[in-house]
Amino acid sequence: MNCAEHIELGAVGTCNSCGRGLCPECVSVFTPPLCGNCALAINQNVSTSLWKQLALMAALGIVTPVLLWGHVPLADLVLYSLMAAFFPPGWSFLRRYFAPSGGYIFMSMRWLNLAVQAGAAAVIGIVVGPIYLYKAWKELKTVRDTQRSMGGQ
Ligand SMILES: [Zn+2]
Ligand SMILES: [Zn+2]
Repeated sequence: MNCAEHIELGAVGTCNSCGRGLCPECVSVFTPPLCGNCALAINQNVSTSLWKQLALMAALGIVTPVLLWGHVPLADLVLYSLMAAFFPPGWSFLRRYFAPSGGYIFMSMRWLNLAVQAGAAAVIGIVVGPIYLYKAWKELKTVRDTQRSMGGQ
């Protein structure tokens, strides 16, 4: 088998996504090894889902103060809006680290469980939200750099 990018070179590894051959140079570009096409496709997926998440956060951060306007003191309004905007990253953080997919211990308490988790996610979101934004920004930058260096759009 030869390299998918360099037909004249023998493959020493394969693309982790499509299984095409990769030469020594190509195999070391990405970890895990990916061919150019797959790297671009995966990058595109990463950036699309990041943008979706950021759009959701922006929507929550805008809708919440509009709904609460005039109903709660301004300080609370700001806090609730931040909690709402940072809820998605708080929720995924909670799910990833504290509630591994193993089902609920007490099925009858499922909804209570969910309510407690949602409350915890809102609080955690305030902490992990800004970190998430920073990471997302860095990730989107990496995606753009990768696409640019590979001659993509
Ligand atoms: Zn591939
Ligand atoms: Zn190659």
